[in-house]
Amino acid sequence: MTRSEKAPRRMAGIAALLGITALVAAPALSARNLEFYFIDTEGGQATLIVTPAGQSLLIDTGWPGYDGRDANRIQEAAKKAHIKAIDYVLITHFHRDHVGGVKQLLDLMKVGTLVDHGPNRENDRIVLEDYADYQKNLPRVPKHLVLKPGDHLPLKGLTITALTADGEHISAPLEGAGQPNPLCSSAKKHDDDPSENARSLGILLQYGKFRFIDMGDLTWNKELELMCPDNLVGTVDLLLVSHHGWDQSSSPQLVHALHPRVAVMNNGASKGGSPSVWQTVKSSPGLEDLWQLHYSLEGGREHNVPDSFIANVDEHCQGKYVEATVSADGSFTLSNSRNKYEKTYPGH
Ligand SMILES: [Zn+2]
Repeated sequence: MTRSEKAPRRMAGIAALLGITALVAAPALSARNLEFYFIDTEGGQATLIVTPAGQSLLIDTGWPGYDGRDANRIQEAAKKAHIKAIDYVLITHFHRDHVGGVKQLLDLMKVGTLVDHGPNRENDRIVLEDYADYQKNLPRVPKHLVLKPGDHLPLKGLTITALTADGEHISAPLEGAGQPNPLCSSAKKHDDDPSENARSLGILLQYGKFRFIDMGDLTWNKELELMCPDNLVGTVDLLLVSHHGWDQSSSPQLVHALHPRVAVMNNGASKGGSPSVWQTVKSSPGLEDLWQLHYSLEGGREHNVPDSFIANVDEHCQGKYVEATVSADGSFTLSNSRNKYEKTYPGH
């Protein structure tokens, strides 16, 4: 090695020590992390995901009414993430606490594509009303995409796979998955669920080694179909607890086999957050922490995590959110917008 080759290296070393990396190398094309905002919609769902390439996906839109409360909260999170429009809005199913906020959101923000599982098949009066409203708003968005199990959402730099949709599930295991699920021998079926919940469009997001799952409000028997006798999904780092933590969902056959490191529960103060689900999640092997959007009144002291991990602890809700940021190396940090408490989970 000649002297002239050595010198820039030494300078680079000094610059790095001083923290002035921009002097020695062009900044990476995208320095952004993958970001999740688990927005509080008081027992509904609205999860905003912004990718390192700056693309965005909102899973569900919360409730209608309340003077546009949920749409406002989504817009606030979008501002925090420095995005002005949302590329994809995915509706897991046509229940009011998920699809109800579409109109108010479109009044506030531009959306590129609406994504869903295909036509509503539930005959409940309120669901029919909400589905009609949704259809009325579809033409306000340039594109409409229906996902079937196994389909992907075309976002750059990560893979988003539909696991379940319209009551069906992927027919073959994802890469690396497909092992027998030992918990299936003790599985107990519930009554079949004829509602939209069972038709939820559930997704797995993979970013490098990091894996996140959101199954909407998918109910118990459909979880068993996906996870028994073989686990078609594999394991995840971050689990959004299905169905607001209600006991119609979150079988151990799903939760424990997914082996999440961290879980977020989008329960309301008095919606979801069932003690039995809380117990299932907390006792999941390998779980490091559970975070909650609300203190669950039903759970009481015994079945709530410590306050630092809860975004909203009072009955007069401030609409605080939980945020997760994921680095390219697979490490991720969760933070609580109420008390700024945060915790980092190193990559494997
Ligand atoms: Zn729901």
